[in-house]
Amino acid sequence: MLEIKNVSKSYGRHTALSNLCLNIPEGALYGLVGPNGAGKTTAIKIISGIIYPDKGDILFNNISLVKEEKNSKEIVGYVPDVLGIYDDMTVFEYMTFFASTYGLTGYVARKKAEILLEQVGMTDKRDFYLNELSRGMQQKLCVARALIHDPALIIMDEPASGLDPRARYELKELLQELNAGGKTVLLSSHILSEVSEICTDIGIIEGGRKIISGSVEEILDKV
Ligand code: ADP
Ligand code: ADP
Repeated sequence: MLEIKNVSKSYGRHTALSNLCLNIPEGALYGLVGPNGAGKTTAIKIISGIIYPDKGDILFNNISLVKEEKNSKEIVGYVPDVLGIYDDMTVFEYMTFFASTYGLTGYVARKKAEILLEQVGMTDKRDFYLNELSRGMQQKLCVARALIHDPALIIMDEPASGLDPRARYELKELLQELNAGGKTVLLSSHILSEVSEICTDIGIIEGGRKIISGSVEEILDKV
């Protein structure tokens, strides 16, 4: 289980999260929902180890992701929303490059790249240059990259925004496949119906505080 325990975060005088508590069951496909400004991005960045909370802790099966940076690196696969400045690389080169940042080289790196591209359905794009990819394909490649170190938890911030309907459909399929394969998946959205379609559990936040959380059935019953 991933526990967000009494997490607070301010930017200067502006409070983004205020004593936020959420429990994300292991194996869940979890949707963090709230209007713009609710604190979703802040929560996701804290869970992913990108920024630190002012107060509180994040525990994954009782291991703190805040107190030990290496724990968060090992456990979390944060899916960035851009590929970065690697336009002159092919998809395959991009994957082997990021594999090398995890110490994988040669045959092992190439094999890993092949397996992950297959997993996200991009085997036929392996020799495409990054700047030739659609938004949806770029996102799939970001997912493949986040899977290199085999993290237990996959995290995406507003993954459906900016995708056309077909790419949205493929994103849903991919998230459900990853989840069925044993990954706990956390994603955010400002649209409840978008996540209630695919998620097992939902947490709704507003003004940096929890409004309600529970299984999809419980939430849809109450809102
Ligand atoms: P959401 O992802 O739900 O839109 P955010 O976590 O991005 O919410 O933002 C929560 C609140 O914190 C918002 O009011 C936002 O304007 C504010 N905020 C976010 N980042 C910063 C920052 N770097 N500096 C100041 N205020 C920020
Ligand atoms: P999202 O829509 O993903 O929540 P935003 O568009 O709110 O992201 O924020 C984009 C960037 O601007 C983030 O890095 C965030 O920290 C920063 N930011 C958001 N709100 C503010 C703010 N009020 N003051 C300063 N920076 C902010």
